Amino acid sequence: MQVLKFGGTSVGSAKAIEQVCLILKENKPAGKYAIVVSAMGGITDKLISCGQLASAGNDQYKSVLEEIETRHLTAIRELFPITAQSSLISQLKKKLNALENLCDGIFQIGELSRRSLDKIMSFGELISCVFVAEKLKQQGLNATWKDSRELIVTDNNFGHAAVNFAATNHNIKSFFEQQQADYTVLPGFVASTPEGETTTLGRGGSDYTAAIIAAAVNADLLDIWTDVSGMMTADPRMVSQAIPIAHISYEEAMELSHFGAKVIYPPTIQPVMDKRIPVWIKNTFAPNDYGTLIHDGTDRNFPVTGISGIQHIALLTLEGSGMVGIPGFSKRLFEALSRERINVILITQSSSEHSITVGIHENEMLAAKATVDEEFATEIHEKKIEPLLVEKDLCIVAVVGDKMKNHHGTSGKLFGTLGRNGVNVRAIAQGSTEKNISAVINKADVKKALNLIHETFFEQPLKQVNLFIAGAGNVGSKLLEQLQQQQSFLQNELGLQIRVTGLANSKNMLLSEYGIKLSDWREQLPQGDTNDLQQYIAQIKALNLRNSVFVDNTASADVAKVYREFLQHGISVVTCNKIACSSDFQYYKELKELARKYDASFLFETNVGAGLPVINTLNDLIRSGDRVHSIEAVLSGSLNFVFNNFVNGADFRKVVKAAQDEGYTEPDPRIDLSGTDVMRKILILARESGAKMEMGDITNNLFLPDACLNAPSVADFYEQLDVHAGHFNGLLHDAASQGKRLKFVARYEEGKASVGLQQVAPEHPFYNLEGKDNIVLYTTSRYKEQPLIVKGAGAGADVTASGIFADIIRTAR
Ligand code: ADP
Ligand code: ASP
Ligand code: MG
Repeated sequence: MQVLKFGGTSVGSAKAIEQVCLILKENKPAGKYAIVVSAMGGITDKLISCGQLASAGNDQYKSVLEEIETRHLTAIRELFPITAQSSLISQLKKKLNALENLCDGIFQIGELSRRSLDKIMSFGELISCVFVAEKLKQQGLNATWKDSRELIVTDNNFGHAAVNFAATNHNIKSFFEQQQADYTVLPGFVASTPEGETTTLGRGGSDYTAAIIAAAVNADLLDIWTDVSGMMTADPRMVSQAIPIAHISYEEAMELSHFGAKVIYPPTIQPVMDKRIPVWIKNTFAPNDYGTLIHDGTDRNFPVTGISGIQHIALLTLEGSGMVGIPGFSKRLFEALSRERINVILITQSSSEHSITVGIHENEMLAAKATVDEEFATEIHEKKIEPLLVEKDLCIVAVVGDKMKNHHGTSGKLFGTLGRNGVNVRAIAQGSTEKNISAVINKADVKKALNLIHETFFEQPLKQVNLFIAGAGNVGSKLLEQLQQQQSFLQNELGLQIRVTGLANSKNMLLSEYGIKLSDWREQLPQGDTNDLQQYIAQIKALNLRNSVFVDNTASADVAKVYREFLQHGISVVTCNKIACSSDFQYYKELKELARKYDASFLFETNVGAGLPVINTLNDLIRSGDRVHSIEAVLSGSLNFVFNNFVNGADFRKVVKAAQDEGYTEPDPRIDLSGTDVMRKILILARESGAKMEMGDITNNLFLPDACLNAPSVADFYEQLDVHAGHFNGLLHDAASQGKRLKFVARYEEGKASVGLQQVAPEHPFYNLEGKDNIVLYTTSRYKEQPLIVKGAGAGADVTASGIFADIIRTAR
């Protein structure tokens, strides 16, 4: 005999029920079948709400009753020919009348007992089983239905009744021995006391009904038909990368379900495990998918089989010097909890025996506090122990696997991943069988934690990186283009899945947890919300995604001010914006320290020399023990472009304008021409070399006349360039007459820095610097005779974007 259970979604509509019939008709060998069904999806919740509304004196329960009626009437009309409808409708009405009477009574007395609630909840399954049986009959199968309340006997713990297996097994066996029909449809979830009062087996209990029947008749197989293709490596609603587990042991399935894998109700496994009956979890809506087979031991080699999480957890901690070495404290704690029927989900005890911590469901915490404090009232009064400490808003994440005990380092990997991503672990429990390691964390972190753990144990080597980009102008749009081009290379070659999860320009912002489609970001971005930096930050933090990186492609001082907020949340910052690193030394230092403290990266290679490895080279020298004596550099691609093109006969104003039009200068070219930009760069290099320096400490030998520098607008500035054409021609002539060229040079030596226009002779390495190139000479203890030279294109959106790209990859690795 085979037992098949179909869940709420599987019988949730006429179409679904037809699919169930198809599964039963096709591919099933002749034989006897017990078919256990849930209520139509969502009906049990509605029934509960009817009871609750009625007991609260709210007559809205009547409209909920109507919704329940409509849902079932629609199913009848869609499932059956008119001729068959009237008998079914009258059966339905009879049941719904009884339900309404029950609710009216509850409304009158204003009280909902657990006994009444069980009666109310039973209607869902009692109705759906008739539909399925009738539909099977319609299709020519020899089918009937049987009320499980006549078979499954329980105690009177309403809502969570315990099964009397001796009586139940006897009833089921003798019923099926005599059963003639091939297909017997039974309502899941419901049972009754020996006195005939309706009970239920706990939410999700239809799985359990099916397992009880399977064990009683010694079935060959128990099928659990649901709406996913098996038990998955994680809850698919939380972890989109979750995949079905083809084979799993009873023990593993039991652990996973106990720790929140809702796909199977936890008590289900025990009866079938005792009889070694295989359980096959299948997808009603994708019957060809393999699903999950739960059976004796598996030969899998991975240490972790699946992960799961339980939300709404509270931690109770009993603590005090009076507990040490005195037996009986934990016994009294658990007895007190058990008296209140409070289910303990997790236990940890410190080895000093100074405290014991248990995890329970949040909605039981007040009762727990009251009962435990009462139990230990004397000890609390005598100050031997503290009143029970209760913490809420927590959840448990658990990794499960039979093979964990044979693999070293599983917990190290688990806690390392969580720690690196700023997930604070509040308590840890590891079962002595080592089939499960669980961690209690803040509820805000649960999704992130599950995804991180999943990535660590199942998705290696693919690592997901989530980018939140600010600025989609010249550099930003190039970066987006490069990211799009490189996506598949990064996945295949580096195991990196880089997604843009946030994008903002000065006008709009766009966030998408699942990644913004890069092919049409230009169309999407203007449709996003109006940009508000604080909102953008708040949403980034609320999304709380793993491996998050904030990418600043702006030149905005406001954006530079918010890096702190990201780093403090473990979000890395990659920036081409020089403002943060060249503002107060204190802020620069704080950002570097925050990055270290919260294990995030703070990378700004593109602050100097665009994509050239200027800062990384310097960092590598210093990290390997070298010491910087001096730095001499041409660091402004813009100024270099200007002075390379400002040759005899050229007009200085036109050259500057061309540089701006080509995108080689800041929107206000004075930032470049005044040397401010170069000052920022040499300041950053000085700081990275270890100097504690401010902008004010740098000497700037200006070549721009004050009138140009102080012009009220950019347009006025250009006019002033014309006015002072003679000054610029003079500078050029002076150098050329000595066979020299003009270069804007930055210098740092022994704690002192300066910038200024310089005439360089043909033998100097700067003389032949072309176009917009940059050059940096590092003279260090190791590179004493000949400086180490970094040289190449040092400006332009393309190379800057690729420098940012490289930093992003660095954060990920
Ligand atoms: P049914 O009504 O068929 O009993 P349930 O809703 O009770 O279905 O259980 C199936 C649901 O369990 C899935 O839709 C899925 O969202 C959820 N779920 C949680 N954890 C897991 C997991 N590890 N594997 C599969 N499904 C899971
Ligand atoms: N209908 C019940 C519930 O929703 C039992 C089940 O579906 O398994 O909890
Ligand atoms: Mg279920």
